[in-house]
Amino acid sequence: MTRKDFIKVCGILGVGIPLQSSFSGCSSSDDVEFDGKVLIIGAGAGGLSAGYLLQQMGIDYQIIEASDQYGGRMQITNTFADFPIPLGAEWLHAGTNEFNKIVNDSSVQVNVETKAYEMSDTYAIWNNGELDVSSLEDDDIKFVDSTWYNFYEDYIVPSVLDKIVFNSPVQSIDYSAELIKVVTNGGNTFEADKIIISVPVKLLQLGTIDFQPALPSEKLTAIDDVEIWDGFKAFFEFSENFYPTQTQIPIEPETDGQKLFYDAAYGQNSDKHILGVFTVGKPALDYINKTESELKELILAELDVIFDNQASQHYMNHITKDWLNEPYIGGGYVSDYENWQTVKKLSESVDNKIFFAGGAYTSGEDWVSVHTAAQSAKEAVGLIVK
Ligand SMILES: Cc1cc2nc3c(=O)[nH]c(=O)nc-3n(C[C@H](O)[C@H](O)[C@H](O)COP(=O)(O)OP(=O)(O)OC[C@H]3O[C@@H](n4cnc5c(N)ncnc54)[C@H](O)[C@@H]3O)c2cc1C
Repeated sequence: MTRKDFIKVCGILGVGIPLQSSFSGCSSSDDVEFDGKVLIIGAGAGGLSAGYLLQQMGIDYQIIEASDQYGGRMQITNTFADFPIPLGAEWLHAGTNEFNKIVNDSSVQVNVETKAYEMSDTYAIWNNGELDVSSLEDDDIKFVDSTWYNFYEDYIVPSVLDKIVFNSPVQSIDYSAELIKVVTNGGNTFEADKIIISVPVKLLQLGTIDFQPALPSEKLTAIDDVEIWDGFKAFFEFSENFYPTQTQIPIEPETDGQKLFYDAAYGQNSDKHILGVFTVGKPALDYINKTESELKELILAELDVIFDNQASQHYMNHITKDWLNEPYIGGGYVSDYENWQTVKKLSESVDNKIFFAGGAYTSGEDWVSVHTAAQSAKEAVGLIVK
C-alpha cells in the first residue's frame, strides 16, 4: 500500500492515522526517565522539532547543522514578491490543528493565517494538447503571507536557536562505546548518550556519514532501496493572471513523479501574479543542471503552448530552486509510491542509541510532509525519554 492509498483508506474508514495515537506521549517532563545528552544531526523540520520537545522536557541536547541556516527544505525567499515564497515546503497537507500539535503547549496561542481552496477555484489538466478545466477539489491548505518556515521561526526556533551549532557537517558517528562520538568535517568532536539523525535519507544513501559500527544490514537495505524523487520549483511573475488555480501535467506512469503549475499568489494579500512550477521525480530532471536563461526559455515555451503564448507576452521575472544540487539536501523527497514498510524500516532506531526523525523517517503511515517530520520527531523523542 502506498502513502496515498493508506491515507485514503484511513479517510474512508473514518479512522485517524495510527501514528498520531502515540503522540501525546512526551509532552510532560513528569514521566521522563532519561537524564543524558542528545545530539540531533540536522536543523530541518525534524531536527528543530526534536530539539524543541527536548527543550520542553529539560533534557540536555545540541543540534549540529551542516549549513549556515536552519529550516532545510522549508527554505524561503522574501525578496521575490511582497509575500514569502516557499522554495520547498509550501502547503499544509493536513488540518490546521497540526500547528498546535507541533507547538505541544496548550498555553501558547498559535496564530497562523491559512487559506483552503474553494470549489470556485479552477483546476485544469493538460491532456493530449487540450486544457480540460474543472473545479478544484484539493484538501491542501496555503499559508497566507507566511510559510512553514515562518511558522517554525515564530514558534519553534526561539526555544532552540542557542543550541544549534551551524556550519558543522557531521562526517562520522561512532556508537561502538557507551558514549557516542560525533565528528564534523571541521574536526570538532561531540559526545552524547543518544543521537537523532534528521539529515535527508539521500545523504545516507550517498554514504556522507560514516557509522562505526556500520548500520545493521536491514537498515542499510532500506536506505539503499528507498526511491528519492528529485525536486524542482520555480516562480514566474507575470503582468496578468492567465492561468487556472492549478494546472496538472499528467505523468505516465504516475509513479514517476508529479508536475504542477499553480497560482502561487493564491490567497495572499498581494496584487502580484505569480505562477509556481512544482515538479518532483523524473519530470524534475528536465530542469536540473540548466542555466537560469535556459530555464526561463524552457518554462516560458511550455507555458506558451498551454496558455496561447500569454506567458512570454506577460513575463516579468522569475526564480528557480533545484533541490538535487542543494548541498546537504541532495534531492526532493521520498517517492509518494514508496513501500510503507521500507519507510517504517528507515525510522527504526538502532541499538537504542541512534534514532531517526524527519520527512523520510516516519512510522510508514504518511511521509514527506513537514507535519509528518514533526510527528516523527515526537516519536523519536518519546522513545528516548521513556
Ligand atoms: C520541492 C519540495 C516541495 C515540498 N513541498 C512540501 C509541501 O508543500 N508541504 C509539506 O509539508 N512538505 C513539503 N515538502 C517536504 C518537506 O519540505 C520535507 O519533508 C521536510 O521539510 C523535511 O524535513 P527534515 O527535517 O526531514 O529534512 P531537511 O529539511 O532536509 O533538513 C535536514 C537538515 O540536515 C542538514 N544536514 C544534512 N547533512 C548534514 C550533516 N552531515 N551534518 C549536519 N547536518 C546535516 C541539512 O543542512 C538540513 O538543514 C517539499 C519538499 C520539496 C523538496
